[in-house]
Amino acid sequence: MKIVVLSGGVGGARFLRGLRSAAAGSELTAIVNVGDDMWLTGLRICPDLDSIMYTLAGVNDEQRGWGRVGESERVSGELREYGVGWPWFTLGDLDLGTHIARTHYLRSGIPLSEATARLASRWDLGVRLLPATDDEAETQVVLADGGSLHFQEWWTRHRAALPTRAFVYPVGSSKPAPGVLEAIVSAHVILIAPSNPVVSIAPILAIPGIRDALSAARAPIVGVSPIISGAVVRGMADACLTAIGVATAADAIALHYGARSRGGLIDAWLVDETDAALTSAIEAAGIRASAVPLWMRDLPSSAALATAALAAAK
Ligand code: GDP
Ligand code: CA
Repeated sequence: MKIVVLSGGVGGARFLRGLRSAAAGSELTAIVNVGDDMWLTGLRICPDLDSIMYTLAGVNDEQRGWGRVGESERVSGELREYGVGWPWFTLGDLDLGTHIARTHYLRSGIPLSEATARLASRWDLGVRLLPATDDEAETQVVLADGGSLHFQEWWTRHRAALPTRAFVYPVGSSKPAPGVLEAIVSAHVILIAPSNPVVSIAPILAIPGIRDALSAARAPIVGVSPIISGAVVRGMADACLTAIGVATAADAIALHYGARSRGGLIDAWLVDETDAALTSAIEAAGIRASAVPLWMRDLPSSAALATAALAAAK
């Protein structure tokens, strides 16, 4: 079976780790957000691709929730002494190795999709990682005062606390990366990971061609709520949802994505057991809804969630 997952970073990575275990023998492809990417002191940083790569490789820092386990920050310390660097964005030494290798490939004219495949080939990930696009389309945040800044600066430096009017995905004429549309067309099941709808999933959908391919896909599209009992599980997705006028609630996100039969994105939606009362409103909007445990505490709970998502596709 061919399974395609639209994914952001940490939430998507945990989901993919469960799916890999639940769907052994299936061909898994992740279409990954690159709206968070940026250039920092000459290096190309792709946080969501790297979160997934490290998690599936088993070299991620579970405790901290991001980056490499056993990480050190000697290089960042040196750069600080020189007055060069990124005081608001932590880059560990092992992580910098990834960015240097990726930048080396990009500088040699290799597109991001191929650079990603080369980095990933070091490990046995069991999931094909595809950036949504090879083009640079970095999410911008428009502030209430009219100014704008890069999503990473808003999120990491300002902790998503600046009053915000809108998110802009400057996709221009960017194209889906090679393999993305083919994966969507040939998929048997398409899953939307419990990722941030505004800054992880929306930037993927904004790439010209991807939404149309999803609308036309023969595979059922099942989404998983990143919101449980009216709260984010990790991170600050509530700040993003509030900024675009969507309530931090599992039903509100389902309605925001919309039923595919009515011009939206999804055919089915999973909410947490504690949100079971919300399923009737979701069903009324034309989306099949089921309530299952959504907490990905460990591998078994993540695998059970993936199994439930596959069952909802039937
Ligand atoms: P990011 O790019 O690193 O921010 O990661 P994602 O966009 O992939 O995922 C962030 C979202 O994952 C947040 O909105 C969290 O609420 C959600 N999330 C994190 N852990 C869990 C979990 O165990 N279960 C569910 N359902 N959602 C989760
Ligand atoms: Ca991200």
